[in-house]
Amino acid sequence: MRASLGTLIALGLERGRADVTPEIAYIMQYSESGCAGKCAFCAQSASSHASKELLSRVVWPEVSLDTLLRGLSSSNYRRVCIQTIIKSRFIEEAHYLVRSFNELGMKVSLSITPVPESELRQFAREGVDYLGVGLDAASRSLAEAYERPYTWNTYWDFIRSGVRVFGRGRVVTHLIVGLGESLKDLLSTVEKLRSVGSDISLFALTPLKGTKAGKLSSPPVRYYRLVQLATKLIMDGHNWRDFIIYREGKPYINKSVLGLDADDLLEAVIIRGCPGCNRPFYNEVPGREPYNFPGREYLSKWKEKVAEELRELLI
Ligand code: SF4
Repeated sequence: MRASLGTLIALGLERGRADVTPEIAYIMQYSESGCAGKCAFCAQSASSHASKELLSRVVWPEVSLDTLLRGLSSSNYRRVCIQTIIKSRFIEEAHYLVRSFNELGMKVSLSITPVPESELRQFAREGVDYLGVGLDAASRSLAEAYERPYTWNTYWDFIRSGVRVFGRGRVVTHLIVGLGESLKDLLSTVEKLRSVGSDISLFALTPLKGTKAGKLSSPPVRYYRLVQLATKLIMDGHNWRDFIIYREGKPYINKSVLGLDADDLLEAVIIRGCPGCNRPFYNEVPGREPYNFPGREYLSKWKEKVAEELRELLI
């Protein structure tokens, strides 16, 4: 197994100090060679030379399942998030993990590549109540360009079957901002996800040395804030075509249509996902302004700056 360094520190299994404690335990399947997928942005990818201890910016040291279960059984953690990778018998292993965490009385969020709906029903019986789906790319052409392991249509069929099994709002689809998508494609995908019953978790591209996408740049903060705010508005029921307006080629949000107050705006930069998910520093460099905030308390240090960035998007 692997577990995020922050999780292991919180369980007393690694030394160190975490700026923000993970609210749920983040676990990843282990393979010495990483995942058999070849996604161009991922450290676990078969095409990456980056350390297999990494996923995004987070370090995931190895830990035995027994040690982890012992640590969790004496902790306050009530939910575990399992990140799977593609390897031989990974689905059977994932079932075993779910059952093991369920026996400790923990809720389980499972992030997995497309599997048959019958497997999802079995996962639900074993204790999974939220499903994570790494759609990641915002369009079919980007999914192909970044060498996703399944077709665009397969991911969408999987999201729909996830909603059938776990219910509306209990599938959380991950999207990476900064892969070269158009704003129109990105927001149309967010809107389509909402219409099929999925929630959305946004990630900022984290270019990692050794991956094929390692030479790209992280997205500009202004663009990321715009996407965060637009995502919140779409999830609140607005159509992006009604609030995105362009001035001198730059996109803005039409505030007169929306009537937002300052607190509503700030909600947009806090991590969305399964209950309690705060995935600290997944895309962020400690000390630098975060793309995603793990909660209100951490946001309070950056509140004025972020509020100003959001206000500047309104016109
Ligand atoms: S399928 Fe997931 S874990 Fe595997 S290479 Fe792609 S993004 Fe990474």
